[in-house]
Amino acid sequence: MIKRQTTINRIFKVSGIGLHSGREVALEFLPRREFGIAFVHNGVTIPARYDMVTDTRLSTLISKDGSSVSTIEHLMAAFYFSGITNCLVYIDGPEVPILDGSAWEFYQGMWKAGVYEFPESGVYLKVQRPVEVCHKEAFVRIKPLNMLDITMSIEFRAPVGRQKKRVTDVENAFSIINSRTFTMVEEIEAIKKAGLAKGGSLDNAVVIGEDDVINPQGLRYKKELVNHKILDLIGDLYTSGYRILGKVEASRTGHYLNNLFLKELFSDPQNYSIY
Ligand code: ZN
Repeated sequence: MIKRQTTINRIFKVSGIGLHSGREVALEFLPRREFGIAFVHNGVTIPARYDMVTDTRLSTLISKDGSSVSTIEHLMAAFYFSGITNCLVYIDGPEVPILDGSAWEFYQGMWKAGVYEFPESGVYLKVQRPVEVCHKEAFVRIKPLNMLDITMSIEFRAPVGRQKKRVTDVENAFSIINSRTFTMVEEIEAIKKAGLAKGGSLDNAVVIGEDDVINPQGLRYKKELVNHKILDLIGDLYTSGYRILGKVEASRTGHYLNNLFLKELFSDPQNYSIY
């Protein structure tokens, strides 16, 4: 468990194609003295923070002064798991690469770069009273607890059905980091018709067919899909700017609700304390 502000120990690069654009994008990670994670695109520094989020339909997208970066959630989860609180990410395109559909390669890059610790604290946000948001059957709620504990449930057509998972020690839940994004086979055509997911393939997403997973290698974990929903939630929660402590229960959540949850959390300073 980290206690203080940290950054990466040396510069590193990651590149790959964007899921929606299909175009090659390169990222360069630089150590940062100032608190927080920020992207630099077209010369504009965009804090990776919930109040910069302007679109949540396909992924979490942040924007400022006409520049935007989409699909930041898996990268944000990698920062969370690496314990990195301060970093500048230079990106030469508008979409973070999808890589294998998980946070694994980003996490590896950070792990190899190493962690540099600053003397300052103020990295934790402790929830002081229950906060809840819901939309139809989806919800995210949190109660005070001294660690981050997440219970997630999802429901999709067969063969997925209902899946539920509880992670009691999220900081060390390594099976979350490499769980991949997923889609139903029938959704692919509609997405491609809309000109999206141009970079989508079996190399960067789990595809659920009529009876089984289509990817020849199958799943990485029996609960890979619900694991991935937890990954997305962790990445989105890290756009709070802090490592949140609390007992989270979430169901069928997505980027929109995750962002709404943070707005609700920050709407009253009595909901939390920072240390
Ligand atoms: Zn995702």
